[in-house]
Amino acid sequence: KHDQLQTSTKAWPPHAPQQLEPTPELMAELAAASARLESASPEEIISWAHDRFAPYLTMATAFGPEGCVILSMLAKVAPETYVFNLDTGYQFQQTLDLRDRIAEKYGIEVDMLQPELSVPEYEALHGGPLYKTNPNQCCFDRKIKVLRQAAQGKHAWMSGIRRDQSADRAQAAIIGWDKKFNLVKVSPLANFTKKDVWNRILAEDVPYNPLHDQGYPSVGCWPCTRAVTDGETDERAGRWSGTGKTECGLHTIQESEGSGI
Ligand code: SF4
Repeated sequence: KHDQLQTSTKAWPPHAPQQLEPTPELMAELAAASARLESASPEEIISWAHDRFAPYLTMATAFGPEGCVILSMLAKVAPETYVFNLDTGYQFQQTLDLRDRIAEKYGIEVDMLQPELSVPEYEALHGGPLYKTNPNQCCFDRKIKVLRQAAQGKHAWMSGIRRDQSADRAQAAIIGWDKKFNLVKVSPLANFTKKDVWNRILAEDVPYNPLHDQGYPSVGCWPCTRAVTDGETDERAGRWSGTGKTECGLHTIQESEGSGI
Protein backbone atom coordinates (compact mmCIF):
# COMPACT_ATOMS: atom_id res chain seq x y z
CA LYS A 1 0.00 0.00 0.00
CA HIS A 2 2.79 2.41 0.81
CA ASP A 3 5.31 1.27 -1.76
CA GLN A 4 5.58 4.75 -3.26
CA LEU A 5 6.91 6.09 0.00
CA GLN A 6 10.48 5.60 1.06
CA THR A 7 10.79 5.13 4.78
CA SER A 8 13.94 5.40 6.79
CA THR A 9 14.26 2.87 9.53
CA LYS A 10 10.81 2.24 10.95
CA ALA A 11 8.27 -0.42 10.22
CA TRP A 12 4.90 0.93 9.22
CA PRO A 13 2.54 1.27 12.17
CA PRO A 14 -0.61 -0.85 12.37
CA HIS A 15 -3.09 -0.11 9.60
CA ALA A 16 -6.66 0.63 10.67
CA PRO A 17 -9.13 -1.85 9.19
CA GLN A 18 -11.24 1.07 8.00
CA GLN A 19 -10.96 4.83 7.79
CA LEU A 20 -13.02 7.01 10.12
CA GLU A 21 -16.04 8.68 8.57
CA PRO A 22 -17.15 12.15 9.65
CA THR A 23 -20.54 10.97 10.85
CA PRO A 24 -22.73 13.34 12.89
CA GLU A 25 -21.94 11.21 15.96
CA LEU A 26 -18.17 11.52 15.45
CA MET A 27 -18.41 15.25 14.78
CA ALA A 28 -20.45 15.72 17.96
CA GLU A 29 -17.90 13.70 19.92
CA LEU A 30 -15.02 15.78 18.56
CA ALA A 31 -16.82 19.05 19.26
CA ALA A 32 -17.51 18.01 22.85
CA ALA A 33 -13.93 16.83 23.38
CA SER A 34 -12.52 19.99 21.85
CA ALA A 35 -14.64 22.20 24.10
CA ARG A 36 -13.70 20.14 27.16
CA LEU A 37 -10.00 20.26 26.31
CA GLU A 38 -9.87 24.04 25.75
CA SER A 39 -8.41 24.54 29.21
CA ALA A 40 -6.40 21.29 29.31
CA SER A 41 -2.63 21.13 29.18
CA PRO A 42 -0.99 19.92 25.94
CA GLU A 43 -0.01 16.71 27.74
CA GLU A 44 -3.65 16.09 28.68
CA ILE A 45 -4.72 16.71 25.07
CA ILE A 46 -2.09 14.27 23.79
CA SER A 47 -3.18 11.69 26.38
CA TRP A 48 -6.79 12.05 25.32
CA ALA A 49 -5.86 11.61 21.66
CA HIS A 50 -3.72 8.60 22.49
CA ASP A 51 -6.45 6.95 24.56
CA ARG A 52 -9.04 7.59 21.87
CA PHE A 53 -7.10 6.86 18.66
CA ALA A 54 -3.94 4.82 19.31
CA PRO A 55 -2.53 2.87 17.55
CA TYR A 56 -4.00 4.84 14.63
CA LEU A 57 -2.73 8.18 15.92
CA THR A 58 0.21 9.76 14.15
CA MET A 59 2.12 13.01 14.15
CA ALA A 60 3.77 15.00 11.37
CA THR A 61 6.67 17.22 12.33
CA ALA A 62 8.89 19.64 10.44
CA PHE A 63 11.08 19.85 13.57
CA GLY A 64 9.94 23.39 14.33
CA PRO A 65 10.04 24.58 17.96
CA GLU A 66 6.44 23.45 18.47
CA GLY A 67 7.09 20.01 17.00
CA CYS A 68 10.13 19.53 19.20
CA VAL A 69 8.08 20.47 22.28
CA ILE A 70 5.35 17.98 21.33
CA LEU A 71 8.00 15.30 20.82
CA SER A 72 9.30 16.01 24.34
CA MET A 73 5.74 15.56 25.64
CA LEU A 74 5.13 12.43 23.59
CA ALA A 75 8.24 10.92 25.13
CA LYS A 76 6.49 11.14 28.51
CA VAL A 77 2.91 10.40 27.52
CA ALA A 78 2.88 8.17 24.42
CA PRO A 79 6.42 7.43 23.19
CA GLU A 80 5.34 4.68 20.81
CA THR A 81 3.38 7.12 18.62
CA TYR A 82 4.37 6.92 14.95
CA VAL A 83 5.94 10.28 14.00
CA PHE A 84 7.04 11.26 10.52
CA ASN A 85 8.67 14.14 8.69
CA LEU A 86 7.84 15.19 5.14
CA ASP A 87 11.34 14.92 3.79
CA THR A 88 11.01 17.03 0.64
CA GLY A 89 14.69 16.76 -0.26
CA TYR A 90 15.02 20.51 0.23
CA GLN A 91 15.35 20.67 4.03
CA PHE A 92 18.28 22.36 5.75
CA GLN A 93 20.99 20.07 7.07
CA GLN A 94 20.40 21.56 10.54
CA THR A 95 16.80 20.33 10.33
CA LEU A 96 17.87 16.83 9.30
CA ASP A 97 20.39 16.74 12.14
CA LEU A 98 17.60 17.46 14.63
CA ARG A 99 16.10 14.06 13.89
CA ASP A 100 19.16 12.40 15.42
CA ARG A 101 19.31 14.80 18.35
CA ILE A 102 15.65 14.05 19.16
CA ALA A 103 16.22 10.30 18.81
CA GLU A 104 19.20 10.48 21.13
CA LYS A 105 17.41 12.49 23.80
CA TYR A 106 13.94 10.91 23.70
CA GLY A 107 14.36 7.60 21.91
CA ILE A 108 11.75 8.69 19.33
CA GLU A 109 12.86 7.80 15.80
CA VAL A 110 11.06 10.17 13.44
CA ASP A 111 10.43 8.48 10.11
CA MET A 112 11.58 10.48 7.09
CA LEU A 113 8.99 10.10 4.33
CA GLN A 114 10.17 11.03 0.88
CA PRO A 115 8.20 11.69 -2.30
CA GLU A 116 8.26 9.19 -5.10
CA LEU A 117 10.74 11.24 -7.18
CA SER A 118 14.11 12.32 -5.85
CA VAL A 119 15.03 16.01 -6.22
CA PRO A 120 17.16 15.40 -9.37
CA GLU A 121 14.39 13.28 -10.94
CA TYR A 122 11.75 15.86 -10.03
CA GLU A 123 13.73 18.82 -11.34
CA ALA A 124 14.57 16.94 -14.55
CA LEU A 125 10.88 16.20 -15.08
CA HIS A 126 9.97 19.89 -14.74
CA GLY A 127 12.97 21.38 -16.54
CA GLY A 128 14.32 22.94 -13.34
CA PRO A 129 13.32 23.60 -9.74
CA LEU A 130 9.56 24.01 -9.51
CA TYR A 131 9.84 25.99 -6.28
CA LYS A 132 10.93 28.93 -8.44
CA THR A 133 8.04 28.86 -10.86
CA ASN A 134 5.20 27.00 -9.14
CA PRO A 135 5.78 26.58 -5.40
CA ASN A 136 2.19 25.49 -4.80
CA GLN A 137 2.66 22.53 -7.13
CA CYS A 138 6.02 21.75 -5.55
CA CYS A 139 4.48 21.76 -2.04
CA PHE A 140 1.62 19.65 -3.30
CA ASP A 141 3.88 17.04 -4.86
CA ARG A 142 6.51 16.93 -2.14
CA LYS A 143 4.38 17.43 0.99
CA ILE A 144 0.61 17.09 0.52
CA LYS A 145 0.73 13.93 -1.60
CA VAL A 146 3.13 12.30 0.82
CA LEU A 147 0.96 13.21 3.82
CA ARG A 148 -2.10 11.83 2.01
CA GLN A 149 -0.32 8.52 1.56
CA ALA A 150 0.90 8.55 5.15
CA ALA A 151 -2.67 9.23 6.32
CA GLN A 152 -3.92 5.93 4.95
CA GLY A 153 -4.74 3.57 7.76
CA LYS A 154 -4.67 6.33 10.40
CA HIS A 155 -7.53 7.90 12.28
CA ALA A 156 -5.95 11.03 13.69
CA TRP A 157 -2.91 13.24 13.24
CA MET A 158 -1.27 15.73 15.54
CA SER A 159 0.31 18.97 14.51
CA GLY A 160 2.11 21.78 16.29
CA ILE A 161 0.07 24.71 15.03
CA ARG A 162 -0.63 27.60 17.41
CA ARG A 163 -3.56 29.97 17.15
CA ASP A 164 -1.36 33.03 17.56
CA GLN A 165 0.74 32.18 14.47
CA SER A 166 -1.62 33.70 11.89
CA ALA A 167 -5.20 34.80 11.31
CA ASP A 168 -5.89 31.52 9.54
CA ARG A 169 -4.49 29.42 12.35
CA ALA A 170 -6.44 31.45 14.93
CA GLN A 171 -9.46 29.37 13.92
CA ALA A 172 -7.84 26.01 14.66
CA ALA A 173 -9.78 23.67 16.90
CA ILE A 174 -8.06 21.66 19.62
CA ILE A 175 -9.76 18.61 18.11
CA GLY A 176 -11.37 18.89 14.68
CA TRP A 177 -12.07 17.00 11.50
CA ASP A 178 -9.54 17.58 8.74
CA LYS A 179 -11.40 17.25 5.45
CA LYS A 180 -8.29 17.48 3.37
CA PHE A 181 -6.76 14.34 4.82
CA ASN A 182 -9.86 12.58 6.19
CA LEU A 183 -8.37 12.44 9.65
CA VAL A 184 -9.13 13.85 13.05
CA LYS A 185 -6.70 16.71 13.61
CA VAL A 186 -5.32 17.26 17.09
CA SER A 187 -3.58 20.53 17.93
CA PRO A 188 -2.23 20.21 21.49
CA LEU A 189 -0.43 23.58 21.31
CA ALA A 190 -3.31 25.59 19.86
CA ASN A 191 -3.47 27.68 23.02
CA PHE A 192 0.29 27.95 23.55
CA THR A 193 1.96 31.25 22.72
CA LYS A 194 5.37 31.51 21.14
CA LYS A 195 6.66 32.45 24.59
CA ASP A 196 5.10 29.33 26.14
CA VAL A 197 6.87 27.19 23.55
CA TRP A 198 10.28 28.77 24.14
CA ASN A 199 9.83 28.72 27.93
CA ARG A 200 9.28 24.98 27.70
CA ILE A 201 12.27 24.50 25.38
CA LEU A 202 14.58 26.40 27.69
CA ALA A 203 13.21 24.91 30.93
CA GLU A 204 13.53 21.31 29.71
CA ASP A 205 16.50 21.68 27.37
CA VAL A 206 14.47 20.46 24.42
CA PRO A 207 16.65 20.16 21.28
CA TYR A 208 15.81 22.83 18.69
CA ASN A 209 17.01 23.99 15.29
CA PRO A 210 20.12 26.23 15.62
CA LEU A 211 18.79 28.31 12.72
CA HIS A 212 16.32 29.86 15.19
CA ASP A 213 19.30 31.60 16.80
CA GLN A 214 20.40 32.92 13.39
CA GLY A 215 17.34 34.95 12.44
CA TYR A 216 15.05 32.19 11.21
CA PRO A 217 11.98 32.08 13.50
CA SER A 218 10.24 29.68 11.10
CA VAL A 219 12.22 27.12 9.12
CA GLY A 220 10.92 25.31 6.06
CA CYS A 221 12.70 24.14 2.91
CA TRP A 222 15.90 26.10 2.25
CA PRO A 223 14.86 27.52 -1.15
CA CYS A 224 11.71 29.01 0.37
CA THR A 225 13.03 30.28 3.71
CA ARG A 226 14.99 33.42 4.50
CA ALA A 227 16.07 35.06 7.74
CA VAL A 228 13.81 37.85 8.95
CA THR A 229 14.95 41.38 9.71
CA ASP A 230 14.63 43.08 13.09
CA GLY A 231 11.61 45.11 11.98
CA GLU A 232 9.61 42.08 10.86
CA THR A 233 7.16 40.99 13.54
CA ASP A 234 5.46 38.21 11.58
CA GLU A 235 7.35 35.07 12.56
CA ARG A 236 6.48 33.50 9.19
CA ALA A 237 7.66 36.52 7.14
CA GLY A 238 10.67 34.55 5.93
CA ARG A 239 8.59 31.76 4.38
CA TRP A 240 7.97 31.99 0.58
CA SER A 241 8.92 35.65 0.95
CA GLY A 242 7.76 37.87 -1.92
CA THR A 243 5.55 35.22 -3.54
CA GLY A 244 2.25 35.91 -1.75
CA LYS A 245 2.23 32.29 -0.57
CA THR A 246 1.99 31.85 3.21
CA GLU A 247 1.22 28.18 3.78
CA CYS A 248 2.30 24.93 2.18
CA GLY A 249 -1.30 23.72 2.30
CA LEU A 250 -1.06 21.26 5.17
CA HIS A 251 -2.89 23.55 7.56
CA THR A 252 -5.23 25.46 5.28
CA ILE A 253 -8.11 25.99 7.64
CA GLN A 254 -10.73 26.57 4.94
CA GLU A 255 -10.39 22.93 4.03
CA SER A 256 -10.64 21.74 7.61
CA GLU A 257 -13.79 21.63 9.60
CA GLY A 258 -13.55 23.03 13.07
CA SER A 259 -15.43 21.48 15.89
CA GLY A 260 -17.33 24.42 17.21
CA ILE A 261 -14.89 25.91 19.63
FE1 SF4 B 1 9.02 22.98 -2.69
FE2 SF4 B 1 9.51 25.23 -1.34
FE3 SF4 B 1 7.26 23.81 -0.88
FE4 SF4 B 1 9.65 22.90 -0.12
S1 SF4 B 1 8.57 24.73 0.66
S2 SF4 B 1 8.07 21.71 -1.09
S3 SF4 B 1 10.98 23.59 -1.83
S4 SF4 B 1 7.85 24.93 -2.77
